[in-house]
Amino acid sequence: MKPELEIAYSPVAFRQMGHELIDLLADHLEGLSEQKVIDYQEPEQVYGLFKKELEQSESNDLSWLDTVLKYSVQVPNPRYMGHQISPPVPITALMGLVDGLINNGMGVYEMGQAGTAIERVVVKTVAQQLGFGEGSDGILTSGGTLANLTALLAARSSTNVWQDGYEGPLALMVSEEAHYCVDRAARIMGWGSDGIIKIPTDSNYRMDTTQLESALQAAKKAGRKVVAVVGSACNTSTGAFDDLDDIADFCEKHQLWFHVDGAHGAALSFSTQHRKVLKGIERADSVVMDFHKMLINPAVTTALIYKKGQDSYCTFQQKAQYLWEREEATEWHNLAKRTFECTKLMMGLKVYSLLRTYGPGLWEEYLNRVMENGQEMARQVKALPNFELPLQPQCNIVCFRYKQKGMDEQTLNRLNAAIRQRSLQDGTFYIVQTNLKGTLYLRVTLTNPFTTATHLTQLLQSLDGFAKDILME
Ligand SMILES: *Cc1c(COP(=O)(O)O)cnc(C)c1O
Repeated sequence: MKPELEIAYSPVAFRQMGHELIDLLADHLEGLSEQKVIDYQEPEQVYGLFKKELEQSESNDLSWLDTVLKYSVQVPNPRYMGHQISPPVPITALMGLVDGLINNGMGVYEMGQAGTAIERVVVKTVAQQLGFGEGSDGILTSGGTLANLTALLAARSSTNVWQDGYEGPLALMVSEEAHYCVDRAARIMGWGSDGIIKIPTDSNYRMDTTQLESALQAAKKAGRKVVAVVGSACNTSTGAFDDLDDIADFCEKHQLWFHVDGAHGAALSFSTQHRKVLKGIERADSVVMDFHKMLINPAVTTALIYKKGQDSYCTFQQKAQYLWEREEATEWHNLAKRTFECTKLMMGLKVYSLLRTYGPGLWEEYLNRVMENGQEMARQVKALPNFELPLQPQCNIVCFRYKQKGMDEQTLNRLNAAIRQRSLQDGTFYIVQTNLKGTLYLRVTLTNPFTTATHLTQLLQSLDGFAKDILME
């Protein structure tokens, strides 16, 4: 028998296993609509299963993948409506295979010529779509969380802190409904809880921009230097888009860095019909956009675009002699100069495969469909006496709740939490929940383009049924 390493690396085995794997996954996709979206089991139980599987492993076939599929949430199922991740177009998953096998490190140009060039094509395509000019540039990085931190580090570098160290308390201003990662970024940078100035939202959960001026003055009085304002496009909890033009005006007036967290919604720049919600985004200093949320790509690929490409080189002004011969130079092709990651995936490949194969029209079709589903969901909720909306949805994120006349708010909160729990145990649909100003709402992200009005009707019927069951007990 050959040594194990020879077998493990054998192209013959790869070919055979590859064919088996593709068949297994295609069968899985074909059978999805008959299946539950989630088969929820307690963590200890699933841990036990995989522990046992390893201890008992006898054959080296792929049968254990059945257990992996069974205990994974079925994102490509049209009844999946939970967190914001989208069903990837299968070609992008295949590109993950290419990426994984080639395994170029990407940090320096030589470690991924094709990947580096492809990344630039993707970045330039996004920059143009956002309305930025020739001078704009950016990077791809691992998720919106890291991208927001990277952008805010660039904003901070405008204060010379990278060279000179701590120079008094800094702060940023952001909507109280913003994603928690903005708060986390400020704390990572050492700004503490006073370094995050939360601006209240209006009745539609958008940043109340009339409060920016007084918040800035209050910060100044307290000896804090505000560096940046972060606009949410949209915020995660409600899908509401801040008024980016208002924030841009404010930032211009006070010479502040204007960052847009468009992890979810900046994708709408690819829809002629819907890009109006992003008005003003082209005035931002930096914008973050996830491809795995509304651009039907696998997790994670995120674009971070700077209006002035030069700014992207300010984030990490650092010397790494062993990597770069000319460490001061702004070379677009040595990507790690501008990214948090040293080694990273060839992440542009998946996005590029979509552009190359289907063109941006595929994104537009997808976006228009899921945006319409958001409105359809709202129509159906409004038509039912026992459901209500906290706001008219602005995209494919829709919050709603079950209600009953005469029931106090605390009871309603408990009831809606119980409904969501029943729904999770049942597994026919997958939805989540959120807390808005103390009120618990059910929340869907209509991320699957094959979710129909009928699915939405069935969802509301099943939730109504759970509510009635709970109230009878
Ligand atoms: C999802 C989301 C993030 C976090 O992005 P990840 O890619 O999950 O790290 C940040 N901000 C907003 C507005 C989001 O919706």
